[in-house]
Amino acid sequence: MFENLQDGLSSALKSLSGKGKLSESNMRDGLKLVERSLLEADVSYEVVRTFMKNVTEVAVGEKVLKSLNPSQQIVGTVHQELINLMGPVDHSLHLKGPGEVTVLMMCGLQGSGKTTSCGKLGRMLKQRGRKPLLVAADLQRPAAIDQLHVLGEQLDIPVYSERGEQDPVKVCNNAVKQAKKLGADTVILDTAGRLHIDDELMGQLERIDKQCNPEQIYLVCDGMTGQDAVNSAQAFNQALEIDGVIMTKLDGDARGGAALSVKQVTGVPIKFIGTGEHLDALEEFHPDRMAGRILG
Ligand code: GDP
Repeated sequence: MFENLQDGLSSALKSLSGKGKLSESNMRDGLKLVERSLLEADVSYEVVRTFMKNVTEVAVGEKVLKSLNPSQQIVGTVHQELINLMGPVDHSLHLKGPGEVTVLMMCGLQGSGKTTSCGKLGRMLKQRGRKPLLVAADLQRPAAIDQLHVLGEQLDIPVYSERGEQDPVKVCNNAVKQAKKLGADTVILDTAGRLHIDDELMGQLERIDKQCNPEQIYLVCDGMTGQDAVNSAQAFNQALEIDGVIMTKLDGDARGGAALSVKQVTGVPIKFIGTGEHLDALEEFHPDRMAGRILG
């Protein structure tokens, strides 16, 4: 892990080997490497700046441990700080008990992987013994209803849709009301996305939130988009107070800096990550693994 960074740090910190304390001046070159590594991992600039300030404060004054060389020590400190910032681990879905219907609302920009993630979450819930119902409330994208029905068939999970209905709030409301009758205990609302955030989209989502009173609201965001993921997370969180994030497309070569940035600017936990197009490619988020990936 972190071999490149470790090598770079080893040469930058050669003079420190063996003794003394870490100070800001003798760590300068090493900290520059850490900063570069974070920026390369697509962590947003503002977040990197704050992070570097904190990690410097933590590291300065630390004794150089006999058992480690200074580069290992700095990497260890940086790694631990990243874990602290992306944690604590929180995978809970806040599902209600038997006989009650839990509503989970999914939101996100178009193309973020929202509809696919609804299917993945449905599959995970079914495996855990729940009875999910997928609700096609993305009426912006004509193919979205069909896409959800295809997913439902593949997973053998019922899908609620009202073709011809223009108002997604009504669709969600009707679905929640009929959930019990349809034998479901967990309703997953696949709401509309847009290419960009706009007031109409946010207004619509706020109305669904008010009417259906979801137990949890999850933002699906594309882990490959870096700063865009941060901007959309901020906007969705302001309008809706999201409870968790599902970060998709982390099977690619994205280093995952968006996970740190999104957690930092919203304070909302990353619950799951999407690691592929297949419906089983949903994993619980682990800050330690992501910290390793960010450091490269
Ligand atoms: P929506 O517009 O947000 O509902 O997005 P979709 O669910 O239709 O997904 C958009 C594209 O991203 C599709 O081609 C999906 O197969 C793909 N996708 C979704 N999640 C992931 C993921 O975790 N990894 C990869 N590689 N592709 C994904």
